[in-house]
Amino acid sequence: MSTTDALAAPAATEPSFDLRLTDDQKDVRDWVHGFAKDVMRPAAAEWDEREETPWPVIQEAAKIGLYGFEGLAQFFADPSGLTMPIVNEELFWGDAGLGMAIMGTTLAVAAIVGQGTGEQIGTWIPQCFGTADEPAVAAFCSSEPNAGSDVSNVRTRARFDQATGEWVLNGQKAWATNGGIAGVHVVIATVDPELRSRGHAAFIVPPGTPGLTMGAKVTKHGLRASHTADVFLDDCRVPGDCLLGGKEKLDERLARVREGRSGKGQAAMATFEASRPTVGAQAIGIARAAYEYALEYAKDREQFGRAIIENQAIAFTLADMKLEIDAARLLVWRASWMGRNGMPFDNAEGSMSKLKAGEVAVWATERAMQILGGNGYAREFPVERWARDAKIYTIFEGTSEIQRLVIARAISGVHVR
Ligand SMILES: Cc1cc2nc3c(=O)[nH]c(=O)nc-3n(C[C@H](O)[C@H](O)[C@H](O)COP(=O)(O)OP(=O)(O)OC[C@H]3O[C@@H](n4cnc5c(N)ncnc54)[C@H](O)[C@@H]3O)c2cc1C
Repeated sequence: MSTTDALAAPAATEPSFDLRLTDDQKDVRDWVHGFAKDVMRPAAAEWDEREETPWPVIQEAAKIGLYGFEGLAQFFADPSGLTMPIVNEELFWGDAGLGMAIMGTTLAVAAIVGQGTGEQIGTWIPQCFGTADEPAVAAFCSSEPNAGSDVSNVRTRARFDQATGEWVLNGQKAWATNGGIAGVHVVIATVDPELRSRGHAAFIVPPGTPGLTMGAKVTKHGLRASHTADVFLDDCRVPGDCLLGGKEKLDERLARVREGRSGKGQAAMATFEASRPTVGAQAIGIARAAYEYALEYAKDREQFGRAIIENQAIAFTLADMKLEIDAARLLVWRASWMGRNGMPFDNAEGSMSKLKAGEVAVWATERAMQILGGNGYAREFPVERWARDAKIYTIFEGTSEIQRLVIARAISGVHVR
């Protein structure tokens, strides 16, 4: 074909690159949106004020299959990787506190899927969710009082007791979502502190294990329907097969590290890297909620005899909000697609997506407050809550500074500090 013919020819009927959602993706999006609109939105302010785990909402989500192993497996199965962020965006558009009460379990699930054997996945993931009648939640416990951004400083110790074949865990975990109220806890502990993060491993602490207790529950600025607490591990004994991935694999990895060879598989980092685009999608849900609300408000509210949106200062702000939200979503979808298809994040694309989405959520909710004026600052209007909720997205799962550090190191190859 000549160059002219090639330019004139229509594109292939089956595009090789397509940003349209499939019918399945749209169906899931609309289904989750319905739950977010009809169940979450009406309940959101109450649970934010009560600052308690919203068990009835979790139960409703479980009853319709939105909360549970099968639902999650179905969302994850989408080969494009987009269904997970779509579901998260819709849920967190509904409400972030309730959304985290529903989705907080997935961090523990991600650790089990990422690091567990097939048998461990089959045994523990259903227990993370419980049943539709009696749902349970799970917790992922990595952070400690002196190991937040610096995950390598984890001091919780795991010692193997040869006599009983059990692992014995001792230490204090901080800030654990669902910590102490969870059935299954996934705990990051060090088996060899000298190896820093390369000496870490992830352990299942089964429901009701003696030696695990809840510490202080955190009273928070936002995300208040989601439970956050310290967790204490005091001679907490778990069966040998609760080490995710198994002892043989761990021993091999430790041997490689001690010989100065590569020790890939740092327990907490692997979980965070996989979950960052999903967390970014949650931030986008909050930002979109604020943008949509502010847009309608600006069309409705009149000052100086005209709708405030007729002023460029307001209309351009809304234009920028839409632009930033869409840009963040594209980064999230790219990273989700890469993650699902096993492509390496050579330029820290997972971190990029979470960083952008988190900062957009904080900025967009603050702008929405400004557009609402005094009402933006009042509890009767949801924008105030959304702004409080958004802030966590520049802090947890790696602060914005840490995301920039990860990106900077990835693009430069320099160990930037
Ligand atoms: C609501 C909530 C839920 C959470 N849920 C969980 C959970 O389920 N499981 C879990 O394990 N953890 C959880 N966390 C913990 C969370 O991941 C940590 O709070 C976060 O990683 C930051 O750690 P930090 O609070 O110790 O802050 P620090 O690490 O003390 O950081 C303080 C400040 O210093 C900056 N800083 C630190 N190091 C550097 C550096 N090298 N360069 C530049 N700046 C730096 C940080 O960016 C930040 O601005 C949760 C936290 C909250 C608030």
